[in-house]
Amino acid sequence: MHEMGIAMQIIEIAVASIPEAMKPVSVEKIHVNVGKLSAVIPDNLKFCFEVASKDTDVAGAELCIREIPVVAECNDCQFNWTLNGPAFQCQSCQSGNIRILSGQELDIVSIEIEEQENRLKNEE
Ligand SMILES: [Zn+2]
Repeated sequence: MHEMGIAMQIIEIAVASIPEAMKPVSVEKIHVNVGKLSAVIPDNLKFCFEVASKDTDVAGAELCIREIPVVAECNDCQFNWTLNGPAFQCQSCQSGNIRILSGQELDIVSIEIEEQENRLKNEE
């Protein structure tokens, strides 16, 4: 399962992005964009994240995954379209001279941290 490696990468980046002064924090959500070409199965990634994030600063956070469709563009006729499978030929002019515009990303978009004020209130 290559999702485990990806989950650990996400955790590493997320933990590193939390300012030291704010720790310990309660991270509520981590939003990630995952391109469909990365062949990540969202449920597997969520499961791996849950397992791997235990005992880290992002334990208990929810991983919100947005799948980015694979979009290709033809270098010959500039036609672009969304791929639903491995079709590596222009759908307009049948040229094989195409490139992938999106679908390969694996990005952390944002991290939602529980506000300190709320946390203090909850502890009362
Ligand atoms: Zn074309």
